[in-house]
Amino acid sequence: MAKLSISILGGGREVGRAAVIVSDGSHKVLFDYGIGLGEDDIPILPLPAKPAELDLIAITHSHLDHIGAAPFLYVSKRTPVLMTGLTRNLAQVMISDMLKLAGYYLPFEYPELNTMLESVVEAKLGSTVEVAGVQVDVFNAGHIPGSAMFRVELGNKYMLYTGDVNTIDTKLVKGVELSGVEANTVIIESTYGNVDHPPRELVEEEFLSIVKSVVEEGGRVLIPAFALGRSQEILCLLAEKMPYANVYYDGMARHIMEILLNNPEGLNRIDLLEKAYRIFTPVTKSSMRRKILKERGAVIVTPAGMLKGGPALYYIKRMWSDKNSALIFVSFQAPSTPGRRVLEEGVFEELGPKVQAKVRWFDFSSHAGVSGLIRILKSVKGLENVVVVHGNDPTAFDFAALVEEELGVKVYVPSNGETLVID
Ligand SMILES: [Zn+2]
Ligand SMILES: [Zn+2]
Repeated sequence: MAKLSISILGGGREVGRAAVIVSDGSHKVLFDYGIGLGEDDIPILPLPAKPAELDLIAITHSHLDHIGAAPFLYVSKRTPVLMTGLTRNLAQVMISDMLKLAGYYLPFEYPELNTMLESVVEAKLGSTVEVAGVQVDVFNAGHIPGSAMFRVELGNKYMLYTGDVNTIDTKLVKGVELSGVEANTVIIESTYGNVDHPPRELVEEEFLSIVKSVVEEGGRVLIPAFALGRSQEILCLLAEKMPYANVYYDGMARHIMEILLNNPEGLNRIDLLEKAYRIFTPVTKSSMRRKILKERGAVIVTPAGMLKGGPALYYIKRMWSDKNSALIFVSFQAPSTPGRRVLEEGVFEELGPKVQAKVRWFDFSSHAGVSGLIRILKSVKGLENVVVVHGNDPTAFDFAALVEEELGVKVYVPSNGETLVID
């Protein structure tokens, strides 16, 4: 039986910049090719991959830390790239937006993006396809709309690459289903490899109760949220439980909502997304923003999720000093972002006055917690090797130790540039 070599080009002992090459000697498959953020938010690429050597590229989902660098592989060769149709459509929007904002730092342009999009082989969730001589099973990963995980047959063995996964059903996406899949080796993310999230229903309840109380008292609610995924989940929740509220959504969220409604792959409550689209109001021109801010009880969902830019900045600058209003974070706030500063220091501007609006944070994570990740691995039949990626030190190592203890299999936590050889 052929040995499997697994080369980590990115995402080794770090969250993001996912890129892994798996080869059995006769076929070479690259899973994900995302960007990371370096100092001053300058995009950084994974280690180089040689497009001429790749038979297939498989992209799990449209977050930039999984697909953002992929167009760079389309300068001279058209390698087939496997993804869901929804990921393709979302990628077009996400990568175009990145080129607009940070194109100066990127080694590719729109023509390479277009060549990549033209090279897409679409695969439906739950299907099996054969591309470039490699058989690939495509499963729902439950992370964001369109997200997939892949099982490939290489060297007469099965290898499963999870990408980012979530095990729970949210209003927006159905959780991962993995009953009895066979795989000798699993390459798994570990973003939350040493912690569990609170039950989603509880998070939703507490979130709604604060939104309701602020709205009832005539305050305004600002919900900074990433335009893809989190925005739509929050809108679904509001459409179900507070359809009477005056909810506005700003930025790219509308365009993305339309893409999802046209291609609802892996979505859970499509009915709620349709309802949100029908009853809530998109902000279509900047002059609307001033009016919305004057409205008692207005609820605004807008990027950027960490207050690093986008329309959220317009709103917060005019809301932070209002004690009747609320600022509600619904995603992870990275260190040294304005969002983290508001949460930890209670100020919006460095050394500025204290934020008067109510500030809350809720854990609407789209990644499985440690119990979910262990459950995924336990559901795999014939498992012998686990490769832990997409997790920081020490989280990835904590998770690896637990996997070893609970499953008694070989566990690796490779760093970037490392190649594992597995029997
Ligand atoms: Zn990721
Ligand atoms: Zn992701």
